[in-house]
Amino acid sequence: MTDKTLHIVGGGMAGSEAAWQAANLGINVVLHEMRPKVETFAHQTGNFGEMVCSNSFRSDDDEQNAVGLLHWEMRAAGGLVMASADANKLPAGGALAVDREAFAEHITAKINAHPLISVEFGEVSELPTDGTWLFATGPLTSPALGAAIAAETGTDRLAFFDAIAPIVYADSVNMDIAWLQSRYDKGETEEEQKAYLNCPMTKDQYEAFIDALAAADKTEFHEGETAGYFDGCLPIEVMAERGRETLRFGPMKPVGLTNANGPENKPYAVVQLRRDNKLGTLYNIVGFQTKMKYGAQTEVFKMIPGLEDASFARLGGIHRNTFLNSPTLLDDQMRLKSRPNIRFAGQVTGVEGYVESAAMGLLAGRMAAAELLGRDLPPPPFTTAMGALINHITGGAEAKTFQPMNVNFGLFPPLDGMRGGRKGRKERYKGYTDRAKDDYNQWLDGQI
Ligand SMILES: Cc1cc2nc3c(=O)[nH]c(=O)nc-3n(C[C@H](O)[C@H](O)[C@H](O)COP(=O)(O)OP(=O)(O)OC[C@H]3O[C@@H](n4cnc5c(N)ncnc54)[C@H](O)[C@@H]3O)c2cc1C
Repeated sequence: MTDKTLHIVGGGMAGSEAAWQAANLGINVVLHEMRPKVETFAHQTGNFGEMVCSNSFRSDDDEQNAVGLLHWEMRAAGGLVMASADANKLPAGGALAVDREAFAEHITAKINAHPLISVEFGEVSELPTDGTWLFATGPLTSPALGAAIAAETGTDRLAFFDAIAPIVYADSVNMDIAWLQSRYDKGETEEEQKAYLNCPMTKDQYEAFIDALAAADKTEFHEGETAGYFDGCLPIEVMAERGRETLRFGPMKPVGLTNANGPENKPYAVVQLRRDNKLGTLYNIVGFQTKMKYGAQTEVFKMIPGLEDASFARLGGIHRNTFLNSPTLLDDQMRLKSRPNIRFAGQVTGVEGYVESAAMGLLAGRMAAAELLGRDLPPPPFTTAMGALINHITGGAEAKTFQPMNVNFGLFPPLDGMRGGRKGRKERYKGYTDRAKDDYNQWLDGQI
């Protein structure tokens, strides 16, 4: 008889949710967790579902916010993380904040009480060849397991730090100022020759920008997190500190570009934005990974001509974060293409945040259970928040520049006939969430 047990490694947001979902579908689950035997620098307890930093699950608005929509989808699927958050909610306006200890204790008690879940404490440091496994070991995956994963995937497909450049919604860029062009018009096709959005700066604008970078509030690496910056990924403000001209000879060099909005105006510096998804709705600011605080980032980046009214799908950052190059490594069931008995879920797949990680755990748990039950579970349609996220990490994102992603409406296919830009936003977001809920319900109903 084939072994119908699902082994899950990591009892964080994703692993706890995956265990809950699979066990509720009748699957025997063994949950392997290294804490408290082996610690990370960020976790403080041996509880499942420990929140390592903020106690917020962000916006709970399921009509106007993509994270709120993800909450709604997880609740509809009987999610443990959402139920535990709702049971331990604190007043926080439109956000869903929780009492972190009570939240993790609630999750731990539910997991321990489930008749189909057993727990084994100890580090898993290899990728097993037999059995059905789901790895949800998170941003702080233990070094031994990280080495085993890198040996399987190749070291260039597993990152140990993220280097996130801010991502801007394409429809919020002022195209009267910015223009589309690749440096030296490189590329075979017109699409390639116009792959970048370019924002020009005069000398005065450049000088003011360098001053603002120097003055901006920055965050420090968390204690225990430091390992220095890695080659080619210096924060933009650190590059600027090395000399006022460094950026002009680096990511902001103005060469090989002609301003389509005024060919006679030779820019002193140019900020380039590169397409971040196949849909072309998101662009990242090339080379602008940063340790500036979020408030400072929006202020400083809006000084860039063409980005005065930019909306950011995500802001930049650099963190200790183990994650796979999922677009090349995982199939749409979150299985490792080279070893299909192994799935990944959570932040290690290249999503970012408690909610996104739990959502990917929910999906992976259901997918693994369906496989063990001999059923077929397609991913949710990518008009839904969960579907948009899994589609992004397993194929929609540009693999070469893949960095962790939060859920946001830029990942959703555009709505026909809806007005773009800031003015139509409220109606558009409602359109996205209405469409998502209908499609998600159909997907969920199809599983019974
Ligand atoms: C310092 C820091 C601060 C953060 N702050 C925030 C924040 O404020 N808001 C937010 O939304 N997100 C934050 N994050 C990201 C957050 O940690 C993740 O989004 C979320 O916890 C990821 O869920 P996960 O289940 O993928 O990983 P985790 O919740 O980290 O769970 C992974 C589990 O796997 C276990 N594990 C690791 N390796 C092994 C192994 N080899 N064998 C057995 N068990 C193992 C770990 O002990 C852990 O319990 C932060 C991350 C870090 C590192």
